[in-house]
Amino acid sequence: MERVYLDYAATTPVRHEVFEAMKPYLNEAFGNPSTLYSYGEEARDAMEEARRDVAALVNSTSGDIVFTSGGTEANNLAIKGAALALQGTGNHVITSAVEHHSVLGPCHSLERQGFEITYLPVDCYGRVDPDDVKKAIKGKTVLITIMHANNEVGTIQPLAHIAKIARENNVYFHTDAIQSQGHIHVNVEELDVDLLSMSAHKIYGPKGIGALYVRKDVKVTPLLDGGEQEGSYRAGTENMPGIVGFGTAARLIKNETGADAARLSKLRDYLIARLHDSIPDIYLNGHPSDRLPGNVNISIDFVEGDSVCLDLDLEGICAATGSACTTSSIEPSHVLLAMGRNKELAHGSLRLSMGKWTKKDELDRVAEALPGIVYRLREISPLYK
Ligand SMILES: *Cc1c(COP(=O)(O)O)cnc(C)c1O
Repeated sequence: MERVYLDYAATTPVRHEVFEAMKPYLNEAFGNPSTLYSYGEEARDAMEEARRDVAALVNSTSGDIVFTSGGTEANNLAIKGAALALQGTGNHVITSAVEHHSVLGPCHSLERQGFEITYLPVDCYGRVDPDDVKKAIKGKTVLITIMHANNEVGTIQPLAHIAKIARENNVYFHTDAIQSQGHIHVNVEELDVDLLSMSAHKIYGPKGIGALYVRKDVKVTPLLDGGEQEGSYRAGTENMPGIVGFGTAARLIKNETGADAARLSKLRDYLIARLHDSIPDIYLNGHPSDRLPGNVNISIDFVEGDSVCLDLDLEGICAATGSACTTSSIEPSHVLLAMGRNKELAHGSLRLSMGKWTKKDELDRVAEALPGIVYRLREISPLYK
């Protein structure tokens, strides 16, 4: 049975060209970019080329890109780093209730260190109201961090509007763009952000490498000390294969974003329509149109998302409940709860996320398998009568 992979939001396969570009940096081109001889120079050149490619994906310049060990570290560096750098001027941070755990975690950590955090509510589609951002700003606010697109429900935030408010109030603005980079248009100038997090493994690059865009003159305190790599923002010998892979993935996807998005949004709407036609009592989570091209997230009344996922797996279909990062927890999705879904519907959610190699016939397989699975689970559900 051919497997159908519909969890591109959790991670993507490394594309062939990326793997090929990385290979030399795992053996013959092993130089440390901090050394002076030719091995080092070769590594340095490759690293700077990758930096230019990563920068170009979000319309920034290579001098503003700091490589990190992934998206999680980029979010930690942005949030803790900026908050600590500005500690002298204020101790208030604004975020939203639907952020990724790698944003919420650093916010909780700052709270323990005496910072005050405002977690803004969202509407039923998962959107932050820019007016709420405006009202939450105080004299001691130093940072606003709101994600670009949500990893669970795909909703895209009104980021430029929020950035304008941040700018007017002289507050740093960070965004986690890890789900949007390469999949929709992302431009640090148009969005007018100060800090923006990226990760390679969501755009067909390797895991364990990410980047933080830091606008010139924005102050960030490093999390790691002990070396002058990455402009002293991030000590430690660079992950050369990862960096070269990230650069290649960024360069390739930059020219494909528009075409991929157009193809995937059609497939997305096709799958949503088929599921609505064949399964009663399901609800689309997230905004109907302001959402990521490859994201479908539904709540299925009277069943558990986990059971649906396991049954789909038996049919060779890989999907997710909530987000990949919370599969081991029994808590319902914090994103769906913040959007006003009750606990039962939050538990009964299923995310099908598509990518570059998703075909229509794979979606047909899902649309054929799912009604039967839901029917059987409902038959044994004490909630269903
Ligand atoms: C995947 C993801 C992250 C974490 O990135 P890693 O590189 O896996 O650490 C952070 N935020 C969002 C929105 C994500 O989708």
